[in-house]
Amino acid sequence: MTTVATKKIDLREAQKDQSMEKQKEMIAGNFTRLARAPQTGEKVSYTFVPGNINELVMCFDMVGNFPEINALQMGMRKKSGNFIFDAERAGHSEDVCTYVKTDLGMVYNGNIGPTGERLPEPDILLLSYTGCFTFLKWFELLRHQYKCPTVMLHVPYQGGGKITENMRKYVVKQLKEEVIPTLERISGVKFDIDRLREYLRESARAEDDLVWVLQTARHKPSPIDAYFGGVYYVGPIFSAFRGTRDATEYYRLLRAEIQARIDAGLGPVTPEGNMGEEKYRLVVEGPPNYTNLREFWKMFYDDGAVVVASSYTKVGGVYDFGFRHDPEHPLESLADYCLGCYTNMNLPQRVDMLVNYINDYEADGLLINSIKSCNSFSAGQLLMMREVEKRTGKPAAFVETDLVDPRYFSAANVKNRLESYFQMVDQKRRAA
Ligand code: SF4
Repeated sequence: MTTVATKKIDLREAQKDQSMEKQKEMIAGNFTRLARAPQTGEKVSYTFVPGNINELVMCFDMVGNFPEINALQMGMRKKSGNFIFDAERAGHSEDVCTYVKTDLGMVYNGNIGPTGERLPEPDILLLSYTGCFTFLKWFELLRHQYKCPTVMLHVPYQGGGKITENMRKYVVKQLKEEVIPTLERISGVKFDIDRLREYLRESARAEDDLVWVLQTARHKPSPIDAYFGGVYYVGPIFSAFRGTRDATEYYRLLRAEIQARIDAGLGPVTPEGNMGEEKYRLVVEGPPNYTNLREFWKMFYDDGAVVVASSYTKVGGVYDFGFRHDPEHPLESLADYCLGCYTNMNLPQRVDMLVNYINDYEADGLLINSIKSCNSFSAGQLLMMREVEKRTGKPAAFVETDLVDPRYFSAANVKNRLESYFQMVDQKRRAA
């Protein structure tokens, strides 16, 4: 007879053995490819997660390096603190985004990547600008360091709350007249639009499965944590793998694993095994803290709190309202993807999204994790909090941490705030 306990362990192992192992292999493979680029002659592009045009980069046989991902990986390995310190000693202010300072600290220390292999210098800095001004300044610093070519794709901000035909045409024009010719020149590879269509077809398959996974959080109990677990789930599609068969395979495996959890009536997998009883369902706005990710997550699952939707898992693409990369309209769909990233949306759109999540996922309220050094996310968060409270009647709370600066994670403060918040949710329930 299979007991519940053994079933739980089997599922946990399955999760570890399949999708997680697959993702680990993919990430390690990309770092090795990067490390070997000086020998293999592969050209290297540095680019950012929001608005990345990975499928296009792949058309030129280039290998992608994502500085934010290196920074967060360093944060998770507890190495970012020293890099930030070195960057501050070199004159970068305490208020500068800590992803930038971690990256610069890495550069000052030989640019050894998270897996211990040296990262190659870029052949091109590909700046797809989607809403965060820091991206511009970051690549100015790297251009000064590497003296390499830079190409910018300027993505207009959704100030009016929608994507217009003019905005789309403006982005497509830049792709045709600036970005593609530059990538052809750097790589020596001629652009083939059918190759791009093939990658986009692959992206759309993975996107379907990712959305399916994220929307399983509508179940009670939710079989996933859409913030702490979510940061792992979006890894492949937000980075060098969107458009690859590996990414499609990863999401196929993940989907099967989550389906198995639903069938077994289980909640999310946590670092300590299956989560216990689901008591609170939350929507979270803002990036997580990576230096203490497990400690932070534990404060939630120990109290039976699961995150059922988050804005952070939309920074590298908003797919759950219907957008998919479209092989029939390749350049237009790349434009729509960039225009639609969360960092490129205005505040009323972000509020609408959070309100929608609270209602759709039957959440108990909103929690904002405000990141000290990320102006792009933090601006307007208090206003968003009040507006979401007003429109949903659900309580909201505010905690403050940082992305990868260990000096700004105060476990006792965060825990106190969370506990008061859970009490507030209980009170609201009783009153209702
Ligand atoms: S300020 Fe925020 S959005 Fe901008 S690069 Fe830093 S972490 Fe990313």
